[in-house]
Order: sequence, then C-alpha cells, then structure tokens
Amino acid sequence: MTARTELRRVDLRGSSPSTTELRSVLPRGGVDVNSVLHLVTPIVDTVRERGAEAALDYGQQFDGVRPATVRVPAEALDRALAELDPDVRAALEVSIERSRIVHGDQRRGDTVTEVVPGGTVTEKWVPVDRVGLYVPGGNAVYPSSVVMNVVPAQVAGVTSLVVASPPQAEFGGLPHPTILAAAALLGVEEVWAVGGAQSVALLTYGGQDTDGAELAPVDMITGPGNIYVTAAKRLCRGVVGIDSEAGPTEIAILADETADPVHVAADLISQAEHDVLAASVLVTTSPELADAVDAAVAEQIGRTKHVDRVRTALGGDQSGIVLVDTIDDGIRTVDAYAAEHLEIQTRDASDVAARVRSAGAIFVGPWAPVSLGDYCAGSNHVLPTAGCARHSSGLSVQTFLRGIHIVDYSRDALADVAQHVVALANAEDLPAHGDAVRVRFEAL
Ligand code: NAD
Repeated sequence: MTARTELRRVDLRGSSPSTTELRSVLPRGGVDVNSVLHLVTPIVDTVRERGAEAALDYGQQFDGVRPATVRVPAEALDRALAELDPDVRAALEVSIERSRIVHGDQRRGDTVTEVVPGGTVTEKWVPVDRVGLYVPGGNAVYPSSVVMNVVPAQVAGVTSLVVASPPQAEFGGLPHPTILAAAALLGVEEVWAVGGAQSVALLTYGGQDTDGAELAPVDMITGPGNIYVTAAKRLCRGVVGIDSEAGPTEIAILADETADPVHVAADLISQAEHDVLAASVLVTTSPELADAVDAAVAEQIGRTKHVDRVRTALGGDQSGIVLVDTIDDGIRTVDAYAAEHLEIQTRDASDVAARVRSAGAIFVGPWAPVSLGDYCAGSNHVLPTAGCARHSSGLSVQTFLRGIHIVDYSRDALADVAQHVVALANAEDLPAHGDAVRVRFEAL
C-alpha cells in the first residue's frame, strides 16, 4: 500500500447524496475474508480430524513454538498474576470493576405474559453453557480484550469459560503473561495456548490434549482476531455460535468549528495506531477545522511510536476528511457510514448524539475519547465494524444469553383458540397440524 501523509478530502458540500450514494463515496476499508478461505479450510478440517496434535503443529508453523500441552498449567496463571506490573494490575482492576457495573445493569430478567386467562408465554433467558473467548496475540497483546469478553459472559451466568490465545515463543509457548494475568484476575481457570484458525477449530470440535486431558468443545466463540481467525469463525459458524466477524477497526468523528483540532487529530491517530488497515474519518461542517486537523496530524504524527503504521492507515483510501454543509448532513453521513466508534465533537454534542441512529458506540463531547472506551469507560469495546452497526450491536451480556419461549396453556385456553389454529393449518395445507388440536377435544 502506498502511504500518503495527509488525509484525503471528500467534499460533499452543495450536494445531497442519497444513502446509497453516501455509502459508495465515503472512505471505507475492509478485508476480503473469502480470499483466505482456501487456506483456512484445510486447517479447520485437519484440526477437526486430528485435534490438539494438529493445532499444536500449526502453532509450530505459524507462531514458531509448540507448547507441551494446549492447556496452560494453573501454576503459569498464578505466576503471571504474581509478576504482573502493579500499575497494569491496578488499571485492569478499574477496567474490570467499571465493566462489571455497566454489564451488571444489562442483565435482562425473564418476562411472563398472560396472553389470555390460563394461557401464558414466558421468555426465559438462559446463558450459553460453555464459551470460548479468543484473545489475539499476533502483532499486539490485548489484556483489555480479556476483560471485554469475560465480564459480560460472567455477568450473563456462563459457567464454563475458555480463554484461547496464541503461544508466544518468547514466553516458552505460553500466551503473553499479561493475558494470563488478566484471565487469572477475572477468575478464569481454563486458558489454551493456541491461536489463529487452529484455535477456532479446536474450540469448535474439541479433542484430547497431549497429556490425555479432555479439551471439551464450546458452544460459542467470541472475540476479535485477524483475517485467518475471522475466516475460521465463518467456516465453523453453525456448529458453534459466533459473536461477529470483526474487521479492521474504525473511528468517525463528527465535528464542527467548536472542536479542538489537537484532540481530533490525536483521536484519529490513536485509531490508526491499531493497524495499517484501520480507518480514521473526520466528518465536519468546518473547512477551517479540516485544515487545522491536517496541520495537527502533521505536527503529532512524528512523535507517535508506531509512526509507519499510523501514516499508512491515515494515508490509505479507508481514511479521510469529509466536508458537509450542515450538522444534519453530518448526521446523515455518519449514519450511512455506521462507524464502529463515533465521536461527536460539536456544539450541543449530547443533542446531536441523541439523533444518531447507526454506530457501534458513541462518544459524546470533548472528554470522552475512544481510548476511554477501549479501556476504562465501563462500555464494551468489541463492536461491529464495516457498517455492520446498521444491523448489529457490540458484545454485551445479551450476546451470551438465549431466549427460550415457554408456552403454557390450559384446556380452556386452548379450546378458546382451537378453531383459529385449525383455520390457519388448513390455509397452509397442513391439516395434521389442525388434527393435533382437534383430537384433544373430539374424535377425528
Ligand atoms: P491474532 O491472534 O488474531 O492472529 C495471530 C494468529 O494468526 C497466529 O497465532 C497464527 O496462528 C495465525 N496466522 C498468522 N499468519 C498466518 C498464515 N499465513 N496462515 C494462517 N494462519 C496464520 O492476532 P493479530 O494477527 O495480531 O490480529 C489481531 C486482530 O484483531 C487485529 O486486526 C486487530 O485490529 C484486531 N482487534 C480487534 C479488536 C476489536 O475489539 N475489534 C480488539 C483487539 C484486536
């Protein structure tokens, strides 16, 4: 990819693009998961057939290390927690505490509806039994992702949790110690040292560890990962439930002339730091702000650690500055974009935020940068990307619950509605359905 240093401009002033037109002109990234399915299919098939041995062989091939067992010994979890940097431990504890407060409020209760006297429908929310939480470990280490996946699952009542993360050669084939420490801090006892597509396959099909212990399959897999992880989730979906297919991360900032260009630039850069494919998009009514943000980016970029990655992401076609005439146009634009993260840095930011309909999470005003949500706001940072916020939500307690309808009707309540059931059954040419009701009241 050729890197430009300045953000490209998309000037929509004086035009009234439809939602469809907006979707085609707005900067947008993405990865073609289909392009690696032919590489990932044999990995999934081999792990399904040969289990842990195959998964560990792939770890040797892709991660350069083969741990003795898939399951991380309990002593390694205890050691990682004991050796965790106290500042990181304190930060993780705050992150966990706030996350538990927010997610604790999300837990839905059952609803019992009396449809007619003697006829009730109850919606009962039951947690998924066993969940695998994938924590990436290729280019960066994400202990925050352990928190964001584990807390809602625990609040939902999931009792059996596995955290899976790639083995690291540097740490003797264990996942990164910060990930182990975060798991230990959250009370997770089962951690597997396996990453990539082989991890998703092993979580899906289970197997026997090299020491003979059972690696029980899970019912659902959540958590972000790279293109191979995503492709494996696509292939295993159905056998297991999955949360979503996470694409490269993205931020949109809707700002007017009241925004501070230094803050806006810092937030665009912080998102670009994730990945060369990350998208940073500013939508603004103010050409002066656009120029000032360009200047602030140029000023700040040299000081950032991952300068090459940031420069490539900001210079890529997926990033840019979109000029619009009014805040109303801006809202239509960010709704069409449906960003994973949306910041509102305008006058009356709360009112503007209240009018937005599509975003994974919305950060309101000058004191709520996305970085806050990444770690310590209490909100969840596993959010829909690539426009999926038009139809999907981020990870929540709800992700880990199944709603079961319990239908309980008395004889009289069934008798009361029997003729309508029979009429609809006949209309669908399924008379045996009607008979199943009639036989209860009369000889057929
Ligand atoms: P990862 O753990 O997802 O992938 C590493 C694994 O990929 C390795 O263990 C290896 O098995 C496999 N792999 C590497 N090269 C391969 C190849 N050629 N063929 C088959 N398998 C191969 O870690 P990562 O690579 O750092 O990616 C993490 C991704 O997750 C990034 O894109 C990051 O932006 C994203 N992420 C998203 C969020 C979110 O909340 N949306 C949070 C954290 C990370």
